[in-house]
Amino acid sequence: MQTEYQEMWRDLGLDLEAHAMLLDSLGAGYREVFSSQANRPRETAYLDFVMSEVHGLRIKELLEAKKAGRKVIGAFCVFVPEEIVLAADAILVGLCTGADFGLELVESTLPRTTCALIKSAFGFKLSRVCPYLEAADMVVGENTCDGKKKSYEILGGLVDNLYVMDLPQQKSALGRQLLAGEYRRFLTAVEKLSGVEITAGRLRRGIEIVNRKRRALERLSRLRAADPAPISGLDALLINQVAFYDDPERFTAAIEKLGDELEERIQKKISPFPAGTPRILVSGCPMAVPNWKLPRLVEQAGAVIVGEESCVGERGWRNLTGNDGETVEELLAAIVDRYYKIDCAIFTPNPEREEHIIELADRLQVNGIIHYSLQFCQPYTIESRPLKSRLSRLSGFREKGISLLNIETDYSMEDSGQLQTRIEAFIEMIDRR
Ligand code: SF4
Ligand code: SF4
Repeated sequence: MQTEYQEMWRDLGLDLEAHAMLLDSLGAGYREVFSSQANRPRETAYLDFVMSEVHGLRIKELLEAKKAGRKVIGAFCVFVPEEIVLAADAILVGLCTGADFGLELVESTLPRTTCALIKSAFGFKLSRVCPYLEAADMVVGENTCDGKKKSYEILGGLVDNLYVMDLPQQKSALGRQLLAGEYRRFLTAVEKLSGVEITAGRLRRGIEIVNRKRRALERLSRLRAADPAPISGLDALLINQVAFYDDPERFTAAIEKLGDELEERIQKKISPFPAGTPRILVSGCPMAVPNWKLPRLVEQAGAVIVGEESCVGERGWRNLTGNDGETVEELLAAIVDRYYKIDCAIFTPNPEREEHIIELADRLQVNGIIHYSLQFCQPYTIESRPLKSRLSRLSGFREKGISLLNIETDYSMEDSGQLQTRIEAFIEMIDRR
Protein backbone atom coordinates (compact mmCIF):
# COMPACT_ATOMS: atom_id res chain seq x y z
CA MET A 1 0.00 0.00 0.00
CA GLN A 2 2.87 2.33 0.86
CA THR A 3 4.01 2.94 -2.75
CA GLU A 4 0.71 2.57 -4.56
CA TYR A 5 -0.99 5.49 -2.84
CA GLN A 6 1.98 7.85 -2.26
CA GLU A 7 0.80 10.41 -4.77
CA MET A 8 -2.73 10.44 -3.37
CA TRP A 9 -1.43 10.99 0.17
CA ARG A 10 0.96 13.71 -1.03
CA ASP A 11 -1.90 15.51 -2.82
CA LEU A 12 -3.91 15.39 0.39
CA GLY A 13 -1.05 17.19 2.13
CA LEU A 14 -0.05 14.34 4.43
CA ASP A 15 3.40 14.27 6.01
CA LEU A 16 4.56 11.16 4.14
CA GLU A 17 7.28 10.21 6.59
CA ALA A 18 5.09 10.50 9.67
CA HIS A 19 2.25 8.78 7.86
CA ALA A 20 4.50 5.84 6.89
CA MET A 21 5.42 5.47 10.57
CA LEU A 22 1.75 5.45 11.52
CA LEU A 23 0.89 2.83 8.89
CA ASP A 24 3.80 0.62 9.94
CA SER A 25 2.72 0.66 13.53
CA LEU A 26 -0.96 0.17 12.63
CA GLY A 27 -0.09 -2.81 10.40
CA ALA A 28 2.18 -4.40 13.00
CA GLY A 29 -0.39 -3.82 15.76
CA TYR A 30 -3.14 -5.35 13.65
CA ARG A 31 -1.13 -8.48 12.84
CA GLU A 32 -0.13 -8.92 16.47
CA VAL A 33 -3.60 -8.37 17.93
CA PHE A 34 -5.99 -9.76 15.30
CA SER A 35 -4.21 -12.13 12.94
CA SER A 36 -2.77 -14.06 15.88
CA GLN A 37 -6.23 -15.02 17.22
CA ALA A 38 -7.25 -18.66 16.99
CA ASN A 39 -10.38 -19.88 15.24
CA ARG A 40 -11.70 -16.61 13.84
CA PRO A 41 -14.88 -16.71 11.72
CA ARG A 42 -13.90 -16.92 8.02
CA GLU A 43 -15.99 -13.79 7.26
CA THR A 44 -13.56 -11.72 9.33
CA ALA A 45 -11.56 -11.72 6.07
CA TYR A 46 -13.72 -8.65 5.34
CA LEU A 47 -12.22 -6.90 8.38
CA ASP A 48 -8.68 -7.84 7.32
CA PHE A 49 -9.33 -6.37 3.89
CA VAL A 50 -10.88 -3.13 5.19
CA MET A 51 -8.03 -2.63 7.64
CA SER A 52 -5.37 -3.34 5.03
CA GLU A 53 -6.92 -0.62 2.83
CA VAL A 54 -8.12 1.78 5.52
CA HIS A 55 -5.81 4.58 4.29
CA GLY A 56 -5.67 3.25 0.72
CA LEU A 57 -8.62 2.03 -1.27
CA ARG A 58 -11.23 3.62 1.01
CA ILE A 59 -9.58 7.03 0.66
CA LYS A 60 -9.35 6.52 -3.11
CA GLU A 61 -13.09 5.80 -3.11
CA LEU A 62 -13.80 8.97 -1.13
CA LEU A 63 -11.70 11.06 -3.49
CA GLU A 64 -13.44 9.55 -6.52
CA ALA A 65 -16.81 10.31 -4.92
CA LYS A 66 -15.66 13.90 -4.35
CA LYS A 67 -14.63 14.18 -8.01
CA ALA A 68 -18.14 13.03 -8.92
CA GLY A 69 -19.53 15.91 -6.85
CA ARG A 70 -20.31 14.18 -3.54
CA LYS A 71 -19.15 15.69 -0.23
CA VAL A 72 -17.30 14.01 2.64
CA ILE A 73 -18.19 14.92 6.21
CA GLY A 74 -15.97 13.89 9.14
CA ALA A 75 -17.34 13.48 12.66
CA PHE A 76 -16.10 12.68 16.15
CA CYS A 77 -19.37 11.75 17.83
CA VAL A 78 -22.37 9.45 17.40
CA PHE A 79 -24.69 12.44 17.79
CA VAL A 80 -24.01 13.42 14.16
CA PRO A 81 -26.94 11.89 12.23
CA GLU A 82 -25.70 9.83 9.30
CA GLU A 83 -29.28 9.75 7.98
CA ILE A 84 -29.09 13.47 7.14
CA VAL A 85 -25.67 13.15 5.53
CA LEU A 86 -26.75 10.24 3.32
CA ALA A 87 -29.94 12.06 2.36
CA ALA A 88 -27.74 14.70 0.72
CA ASP A 89 -25.79 11.99 -1.11
CA ALA A 90 -22.79 12.90 1.08
CA ILE A 91 -20.55 10.45 2.99
CA LEU A 92 -20.01 10.41 6.75
CA VAL A 93 -16.71 9.12 8.13
CA GLY A 94 -15.53 8.74 11.69
CA LEU A 95 -12.29 10.59 12.42
CA CYS A 96 -9.28 8.88 13.96
CA THR A 97 -9.09 9.31 17.71
CA GLY A 98 -7.70 6.00 18.95
CA ALA A 99 -3.93 6.47 19.07
CA ASP A 100 -1.33 8.86 20.42
CA PHE A 101 0.46 10.70 17.68
CA GLY A 102 2.61 13.84 17.79
CA LEU A 103 2.11 14.13 21.56
CA GLU A 104 4.72 16.85 21.92
CA LEU A 105 2.95 19.04 19.39
CA VAL A 106 -0.40 18.25 20.99
CA GLU A 107 0.75 19.14 24.48
CA SER A 108 2.04 22.48 23.24
CA THR A 109 -1.51 23.16 21.97
CA LEU A 110 -3.73 21.58 24.64
CA PRO A 111 -3.27 21.02 28.37
CA ARG A 112 -1.58 17.72 29.24
CA THR A 113 -4.63 16.92 31.35
CA THR A 114 -6.88 16.49 28.30
CA CYS A 115 -8.28 13.03 27.56
CA ALA A 116 -6.40 10.84 25.08
CA LEU A 117 -9.30 10.87 22.63
CA ILE A 118 -9.21 14.63 22.16
CA LYS A 119 -5.40 14.64 22.13
CA SER A 120 -5.49 11.97 19.46
CA ALA A 121 -7.74 14.07 17.19
CA PHE A 122 -5.31 16.97 17.52
CA GLY A 123 -2.27 14.71 17.09
CA PHE A 124 -3.58 13.41 13.76
CA LYS A 125 -4.31 16.92 12.54
CA LEU A 126 -1.12 18.60 13.77
CA SER A 127 1.03 15.76 12.41
CA ARG A 128 -0.90 15.61 9.11
CA VAL A 129 -1.34 11.84 9.13
CA CYS A 130 -5.12 11.36 8.80
CA PRO A 131 -6.32 11.17 5.18
CA TYR A 132 -9.98 11.13 6.34
CA LEU A 133 -9.54 14.48 8.06
CA GLU A 134 -7.70 15.94 5.07
CA ALA A 135 -10.32 14.61 2.62
CA ALA A 136 -13.27 16.00 4.60
CA ASP A 137 -15.21 18.93 3.13
CA MET A 138 -16.73 19.59 6.54
CA VAL A 139 -15.64 18.48 10.02
CA VAL A 140 -18.37 18.34 12.63
CA GLY A 141 -17.51 19.00 16.24
CA GLU A 142 -20.16 18.77 18.95
CA ASN A 143 -20.54 20.53 22.27
CA THR A 144 -20.55 17.46 24.47
CA CYS A 145 -17.96 17.41 27.27
CA ASP A 146 -16.02 20.54 28.28
CA GLY A 147 -12.79 19.14 26.83
CA LYS A 148 -14.33 18.74 23.40
CA LYS A 149 -16.22 21.99 23.26
CA LYS A 150 -13.27 24.10 24.36
CA SER A 151 -10.79 22.27 22.14
CA TYR A 152 -13.00 22.88 19.08
CA GLU A 153 -12.31 26.58 19.58
CA ILE A 154 -8.69 25.72 18.74
CA LEU A 155 -9.48 23.06 16.13
CA GLY A 156 -11.51 25.68 14.24
CA GLY A 157 -8.23 27.41 13.42
CA LEU A 158 -6.62 24.19 12.21
CA VAL A 159 -9.24 22.79 9.83
CA ASP A 160 -10.89 24.58 6.91
CA ASN A 161 -14.53 23.95 7.61
CA LEU A 162 -15.35 23.12 11.22
CA TYR A 163 -19.06 23.02 11.95
CA VAL A 164 -19.91 23.02 15.64
CA MET A 165 -23.17 21.41 16.71
CA ASP A 166 -24.59 22.39 20.07
CA LEU A 167 -26.03 19.58 22.18
CA PRO A 168 -28.27 19.55 25.25
CA GLN A 169 -26.86 18.50 28.59
CA GLN A 170 -30.20 17.56 30.11
CA LYS A 171 -33.04 15.34 28.93
CA SER A 172 -35.82 17.90 29.25
CA ALA A 173 -38.39 19.51 26.97
CA LEU A 174 -35.96 22.37 26.42
CA GLY A 175 -33.13 19.93 25.76
CA ARG A 176 -35.16 18.17 23.12
CA GLN A 177 -36.05 21.47 21.54
CA LEU A 178 -32.37 22.41 21.39
CA LEU A 179 -31.51 19.11 19.69
CA ALA A 180 -34.36 19.53 17.19
CA GLY A 181 -33.18 23.06 16.35
CA GLU A 182 -29.59 21.90 15.94
CA TYR A 183 -30.53 19.01 13.65
CA ARG A 184 -32.61 21.40 11.53
CA ARG A 185 -29.61 23.76 11.34
CA PHE A 186 -27.33 20.82 10.46
CA LEU A 187 -29.69 19.66 7.69
CA THR A 188 -29.61 23.14 6.18
CA ALA A 189 -25.79 23.27 6.43
CA VAL A 190 -25.48 19.86 4.73
CA GLU A 191 -27.85 20.95 1.96
CA LYS A 192 -25.75 24.08 1.44
CA LEU A 193 -22.49 22.13 1.41
CA SER A 194 -23.74 19.44 -0.97
CA GLY A 195 -26.02 21.54 -3.15
CA VAL A 196 -28.65 18.81 -2.71
CA GLU A 197 -32.13 19.58 -1.46
CA ILE A 198 -33.11 17.00 1.16
CA THR A 199 -36.58 15.74 0.34
CA ALA A 200 -38.70 13.36 2.41
CA GLY A 201 -37.89 10.53 -0.03
CA ARG A 202 -34.14 11.16 0.28
CA LEU A 203 -34.32 11.35 4.05
CA ARG A 204 -36.35 8.14 4.26
CA ARG A 205 -33.77 6.37 2.10
CA GLY A 206 -30.98 7.65 4.41
CA ILE A 207 -32.90 6.38 7.44
CA GLU A 208 -33.38 2.94 5.84
CA ILE A 209 -29.67 2.55 5.05
CA VAL A 210 -28.62 3.46 8.59
CA ASN A 211 -31.36 1.35 10.20
CA ARG A 212 -30.23 -1.68 8.20
CA LYS A 213 -26.69 -1.16 9.45
CA ARG A 214 -28.00 -0.93 13.02
CA ARG A 215 -30.03 -4.13 12.58
CA ALA A 216 -26.94 -6.02 11.44
CA LEU A 217 -25.04 -4.79 14.52
CA GLU A 218 -27.96 -5.62 16.79
CA ARG A 219 -28.04 -9.17 15.41
CA LEU A 220 -24.30 -9.47 16.02
CA SER A 221 -24.87 -8.37 19.61
CA ARG A 222 -27.61 -10.99 20.10
CA LEU A 223 -25.43 -13.75 18.66
CA ARG A 224 -22.68 -12.93 21.15
CA ALA A 225 -25.06 -13.95 23.95
CA ALA A 226 -24.35 -17.62 23.08
CA ASP A 227 -22.00 -19.67 25.24
CA PRO A 228 -19.43 -20.30 23.89
CA ALA A 229 -19.40 -16.92 22.15
CA PRO A 230 -19.04 -17.42 18.38
CA ILE A 231 -16.65 -14.48 17.93
CA SER A 232 -14.00 -12.76 20.02
CA GLY A 233 -14.68 -9.41 21.65
CA LEU A 234 -11.71 -8.03 19.74
CA ASP A 235 -13.26 -8.88 16.37
CA ALA A 236 -16.67 -7.63 17.48
CA LEU A 237 -15.11 -4.34 18.60
CA LEU A 238 -13.33 -4.05 15.27
CA ILE A 239 -16.66 -4.51 13.46
CA ASN A 240 -18.09 -1.64 15.50
CA GLN A 241 -15.01 0.45 14.68
CA VAL A 242 -15.15 -0.31 10.94
CA ALA A 243 -18.82 0.76 10.95
CA PHE A 244 -17.54 4.35 11.12
CA TYR A 245 -15.30 4.08 8.04
CA ASP A 246 -16.65 1.78 5.42
CA ASP A 247 -19.44 2.38 2.95
CA PRO A 248 -22.61 1.66 5.00
CA GLU A 249 -24.26 -0.65 2.46
CA ARG A 250 -21.10 -2.69 1.85
CA PHE A 251 -20.52 -2.88 5.62
CA THR A 252 -24.08 -4.06 6.27
CA ALA A 253 -23.90 -6.76 3.60
CA ALA A 254 -20.61 -8.06 5.06
CA ILE A 255 -21.91 -8.10 8.64
CA GLU A 256 -25.15 -9.82 7.59
CA LYS A 257 -23.03 -12.54 5.96
CA LEU A 258 -20.91 -12.78 9.08
CA GLY A 259 -24.13 -13.07 11.12
CA ASP A 260 -25.14 -16.12 9.04
CA GLU A 261 -21.77 -17.70 9.72
CA LEU A 262 -22.05 -16.96 13.45
CA GLU A 263 -25.44 -18.68 13.57
CA GLU A 264 -23.84 -21.75 12.05
CA ARG A 265 -20.95 -21.59 14.52
CA ILE A 266 -23.37 -21.36 17.44
CA GLN A 267 -25.19 -24.48 16.26
CA LYS A 268 -21.92 -26.36 15.91
CA LYS A 269 -20.52 -24.79 19.11
CA ILE A 270 -17.50 -23.36 17.26
CA SER A 271 -15.80 -20.57 19.14
CA PRO A 272 -12.38 -19.04 19.74
CA PHE A 273 -13.00 -19.87 23.43
CA PRO A 274 -14.08 -22.96 25.38
CA ALA A 275 -17.62 -23.03 26.84
CA GLY A 276 -17.69 -21.56 30.33
CA THR A 277 -15.05 -18.90 29.58
CA PRO A 278 -15.69 -15.90 31.89
CA ARG A 279 -17.88 -13.38 30.08
CA ILE A 280 -17.17 -9.66 30.37
CA LEU A 281 -19.13 -6.54 29.49
CA VAL A 282 -16.96 -3.48 28.81
CA SER A 283 -18.66 -0.19 29.56
CA GLY A 284 -17.58 3.42 29.26
CA CYS A 285 -15.60 5.63 26.89
CA PRO A 286 -15.55 4.84 23.17
CA MET A 287 -12.62 2.88 21.73
CA ALA A 288 -11.72 4.15 18.25
CA VAL A 289 -9.27 2.42 15.88
CA PRO A 290 -6.56 1.41 16.81
CA ASN A 291 -7.38 1.42 20.51
CA TRP A 292 -7.37 -2.31 21.23
CA LYS A 293 -5.30 -2.22 24.42
CA LEU A 294 -7.88 -3.16 27.05
CA PRO A 295 -9.83 -5.84 25.08
CA ARG A 296 -6.60 -7.51 24.15
CA LEU A 297 -5.48 -7.71 27.79
CA VAL A 298 -8.88 -9.05 28.84
CA GLU A 299 -9.01 -11.78 26.21
CA GLN A 300 -5.37 -12.71 26.70
CA ALA A 301 -6.15 -13.15 30.38
CA GLY A 302 -8.65 -15.90 29.51
CA ALA A 303 -12.01 -14.08 29.36
CA VAL A 304 -14.23 -13.17 26.44
CA ILE A 305 -15.80 -9.75 25.94
CA VAL A 306 -19.42 -10.27 24.92
CA GLY A 307 -20.62 -6.67 24.76
CA GLU A 308 -19.54 -3.03 24.64
CA GLU A 309 -21.70 -0.46 26.40
CA SER A 310 -20.00 2.30 24.46
CA CYS A 311 -20.50 4.64 21.52
CA VAL A 312 -18.29 2.26 19.54
CA GLY A 313 -20.79 -0.43 20.47
CA GLU A 314 -24.36 -0.60 21.74
CA ARG A 315 -24.71 3.08 22.61
CA GLY A 316 -23.77 4.02 19.06
CA TRP A 317 -26.28 1.92 17.15
CA ARG A 318 -29.13 0.83 19.42
CA ASN A 319 -32.60 2.23 18.70
CA LEU A 320 -33.79 2.57 15.15
CA THR A 321 -35.02 5.79 13.56
CA GLY A 322 -38.73 5.82 12.68
CA ASN A 323 -39.20 6.05 8.91
CA ASP A 324 -42.93 6.39 8.45
CA GLY A 325 -43.06 10.20 8.37
CA GLU A 326 -44.49 11.82 5.26
CA THR A 327 -42.59 15.09 5.37
CA VAL A 328 -39.00 16.18 6.05
CA GLU A 329 -40.17 17.74 9.33
CA GLU A 330 -41.83 14.48 10.49
CA LEU A 331 -38.78 12.41 9.58
CA LEU A 332 -36.51 14.95 11.27
CA ALA A 333 -38.63 14.63 14.41
CA ALA A 334 -38.10 10.85 14.27
CA ILE A 335 -34.34 11.41 13.98
CA VAL A 336 -34.45 13.69 17.04
CA ASP A 337 -36.44 11.01 18.96
CA ARG A 338 -33.84 8.38 18.18
CA TYR A 339 -30.71 10.42 18.98
CA TYR A 340 -32.27 11.93 22.07
CA LYS A 341 -32.15 8.44 23.62
CA ILE A 342 -28.32 8.26 23.46
CA ASP A 343 -27.22 7.92 27.09
CA CYS A 344 -23.81 9.58 26.88
CA ALA A 345 -22.26 10.55 30.22
CA ILE A 346 -22.37 14.22 29.25
CA PHE A 347 -26.05 14.19 30.26
CA THR A 348 -27.00 15.05 33.78
CA PRO A 349 -28.55 13.12 35.37
CA ASN A 350 -28.08 10.04 33.22
CA PRO A 351 -30.05 7.15 34.79
CA GLU A 352 -30.76 5.49 31.41
CA ARG A 353 -27.13 4.44 31.12
CA GLU A 354 -27.20 2.52 34.42
CA GLU A 355 -30.43 0.80 33.37
CA HIS A 356 -28.94 -0.14 30.03
CA ILE A 357 -25.83 -1.64 31.66
CA ILE A 358 -28.02 -3.74 33.97
CA GLU A 359 -30.16 -4.91 31.06
CA LEU A 360 -27.08 -5.79 28.99
CA ALA A 361 -25.41 -7.68 31.82
CA ASP A 362 -28.52 -9.81 32.10
CA ARG A 363 -29.11 -10.35 28.37
CA LEU A 364 -25.48 -11.23 27.66
CA GLN A 365 -25.17 -13.39 30.81
CA VAL A 366 -21.99 -11.66 31.89
CA ASN A 367 -19.86 -12.68 34.85
CA GLY A 368 -18.17 -9.33 35.30
CA ILE A 369 -18.16 -5.72 34.08
CA ILE A 370 -15.09 -3.66 33.33
CA HIS A 371 -15.74 0.06 33.42
CA TYR A 372 -13.32 1.78 31.10
CA SER A 373 -12.61 5.49 31.48
CA LEU A 374 -9.96 7.48 29.75
CA GLN A 375 -7.78 9.44 32.14
CA PHE A 376 -9.03 13.02 32.54
CA CYS A 377 -12.47 12.09 31.16
CA GLN A 378 -14.64 13.51 33.89
CA PRO A 379 -18.09 12.45 32.60
CA TYR A 380 -17.32 8.72 32.49
CA THR A 381 -14.92 8.63 35.45
CA ILE A 382 -17.47 10.36 37.66
CA GLU A 383 -20.31 8.08 36.52
CA SER A 384 -18.24 4.98 37.29
CA ARG A 385 -18.40 5.49 41.09
CA PRO A 386 -22.19 5.56 41.64
CA LEU A 387 -22.53 2.83 39.02
CA LYS A 388 -20.24 0.51 40.97
CA SER A 389 -22.05 1.15 44.22
CA ARG A 390 -25.51 0.70 42.61
CA LEU A 391 -24.51 -2.61 41.02
CA SER A 392 -23.02 -3.91 44.26
CA ARG A 393 -26.39 -3.33 45.96
CA LEU A 394 -28.48 -5.12 43.31
CA SER A 395 -29.61 -8.49 44.64
CA GLY A 396 -29.48 -10.13 41.18
CA PHE A 397 -25.85 -9.05 40.79
CA ARG A 398 -24.95 -10.13 44.33
CA GLU A 399 -26.50 -13.58 43.86
CA LYS A 400 -24.64 -14.14 40.60
CA GLY A 401 -21.45 -12.61 42.03
CA ILE A 402 -21.20 -10.04 39.20
CA SER A 403 -18.80 -7.30 40.16
CA LEU A 404 -17.31 -4.28 38.46
CA LEU A 405 -13.66 -3.44 37.89
CA ASN A 406 -12.88 0.22 37.30
CA ILE A 407 -10.06 0.94 34.88
CA GLU A 408 -8.71 4.39 34.10
CA THR A 409 -6.10 4.48 31.41
CA ASP A 410 -4.87 6.23 28.27
CA TYR A 411 -3.44 5.10 24.92
CA SER A 412 0.14 4.56 26.06
CA MET A 413 1.46 1.08 26.81
CA GLU A 414 3.23 2.22 29.97
CA ASP A 415 0.57 0.86 32.30
CA SER A 416 0.05 -2.44 30.43
CA GLY A 417 1.85 -4.53 33.06
CA GLN A 418 -0.12 -3.04 35.90
CA LEU A 419 -3.42 -3.38 33.99
CA GLN A 420 -2.63 -6.96 33.12
CA THR A 421 -2.13 -7.81 36.80
CA ARG A 422 -5.42 -6.19 37.81
CA ILE A 423 -7.38 -7.78 34.96
CA GLU A 424 -5.91 -11.24 35.62
CA ALA A 425 -6.80 -10.96 39.31
CA PHE A 426 -10.37 -9.89 38.40
CA ILE A 427 -10.82 -12.81 36.01
CA GLU A 428 -9.33 -15.28 38.47
CA MET A 429 -11.81 -14.06 41.06
CA ILE A 430 -14.69 -14.57 38.58
CA ASP A 431 -13.36 -18.02 37.70
CA ARG A 432 -13.23 -19.09 41.37
CA ARG A 433 -16.91 -18.15 41.73
S1 SF4 B 1 -19.19 9.34 24.50
FE1 SF4 B 1 -20.60 11.08 24.22
S2 SF4 B 1 -19.27 12.63 23.30
FE2 SF4 B 1 -18.24 10.67 23.01
S3 SF4 B 1 -18.90 9.88 21.00
FE3 SF4 B 1 -20.29 9.09 22.54
S4 SF4 B 1 -22.01 10.51 22.57
FE4 SF4 B 1 -20.30 11.57 21.60
S1 SF4 C 1 -13.57 10.46 26.46
FE1 SF4 C 1 -14.60 11.82 27.93
S2 SF4 C 1 -13.35 13.67 28.04
FE2 SF4 C 1 -12.75 12.52 26.20
S3 SF4 C 1 -13.99 13.37 24.58
FE3 SF4 C 1 -15.14 11.63 25.37
S4 SF4 C 1 -16.49 12.44 26.96
FE4 SF4 C 1 -14.93 14.01 26.49
